[in-house]
Amino acid sequence: MTDYREMWSGLGLDLQTHDAVLEIVGKMYGEVYMSQKNRPKGMEYFDFVMSEIHGLRIKELMDAKAEGRKIIGTFCVFVPEELILAVNGISVGLCAGAELAFDAAEQFIPRNTCALIKSAFGFKLAKVCPYIESADLIVGENTCDGKKKAYESYKDLVGNLYVMDLPQVKSSEGKVLLKAEYQKFAKKLEELSGNKITKESLQKGIEIVNSKRKAIKRLSDLRTANPTPISGLDALLINQVYFYDDPIRFTNSVNALCDELELRIKTGVGVFSNKTPRILVSGCPMAVPNWKIPQIIETSNATIVGEEMCTGERGTRNFVANENLSTEEMINAIVDRYFNIDCAIFTPNNERYENIKQMAKQYKADGVIYYSLQFCQPYQNESISIEKMLEKEGIPVLNIDTDYSSEDIGQLKTRIEAFIERIKS
Ligand code: SF4
Ligand code: SF4
Repeated sequence: MTDYREMWSGLGLDLQTHDAVLEIVGKMYGEVYMSQKNRPKGMEYFDFVMSEIHGLRIKELMDAKAEGRKIIGTFCVFVPEELILAVNGISVGLCAGAELAFDAAEQFIPRNTCALIKSAFGFKLAKVCPYIESADLIVGENTCDGKKKAYESYKDLVGNLYVMDLPQVKSSEGKVLLKAEYQKFAKKLEELSGNKITKESLQKGIEIVNSKRKAIKRLSDLRTANPTPISGLDALLINQVYFYDDPIRFTNSVNALCDELELRIKTGVGVFSNKTPRILVSGCPMAVPNWKIPQIIETSNATIVGEEMCTGERGTRNFVANENLSTEEMINAIVDRYFNIDCAIFTPNNERYENIKQMAKQYKADGVIYYSLQFCQPYQNESISIEKMLEKEGIPVLNIDTDYSSEDIGQLKTRIEAFIERIKS
């Protein structure tokens, strides 16, 4: 096994705490992932990526930096990877899904802040995230109130934060704002990297990201089969790795896995029996290693067939048009694509309601488990009307509010099992 301690130390990580984090996550991964039955062989690649997520992948980033490439850390699917690739940069996700140093984080942000935001502070303060430490630029965005106020103090902690403004209404003025922000961001990237965005480089960036999204769409379409050829836990993992891995290698690996899944479907091979209740999970993003709810669902005789979340279809649906377009037209096409993201920060947010209904139908879901992080006002707010809408359509809904702790696992399991019984009857 390669020893990466020198690299981690060079990045300023606290080696003792970092060792402890790797041990806990490694153990958790073994319990949650390696205990699954009937996994496709193609998942071995993603197991490998996870085993090297703080090792080989960071080494690759450091090598790329040595060649002059810039690492751009992001917290939101509104940050266009196409622009980052167009300046030969590398985009990495920084959201974390574990409770770490929350006490220290509460010296900067209120206690009643969602766990996703708190963990961004916790991971920085505990010095355990090589992605944060290797980033040349960290991009924040004015989305929910929690994030936009948190960035005011996060900027002093990291020293290289760039905040992008975002519209909150899907109006023509909102679209003009998004375009202006993307143009500003493009300029910032050009300054940072010393590379100009050209027609060719932007076209290439768009192609790479479109291919990545097409591979994910292919995977999602295969999950409409019954029995489902892949578990929801594995599909979530792929959606999480989406934010870290080299995009071309990732796309090839997802497509290779899809080839295998197509064969499984042809021969009727599935992960669970075809009588297993099918669940659509909807709500806040689930960052690594937040596997709590999917694990409970899939060890309670149900399977997840789709994710209506940013670590899922909200983040990956829709492609950017790029055929025979000028640079300006490609920027417009990027704005068009991202302006469709139906994050709950938008008001009104009718597209999201339609998308959930459509997903429930497409994936033949027997029920929806709506997942909100505690103190996440946008998603908690929408949970009430979404539940009413879906129940009216005859789709059972279970609304869950939780955080990153393990304290409520027993209670959640009881509620989820009761919900699955309700679906069955
Ligand atoms: S939920 Fe909204 S704010 Fe969070 S990553 Fe998704 S789009 Fe961004
Ligand atoms: S989970 Fe909710 S409160 Fe937390 S960052 Fe995302 S939108 Fe904001």
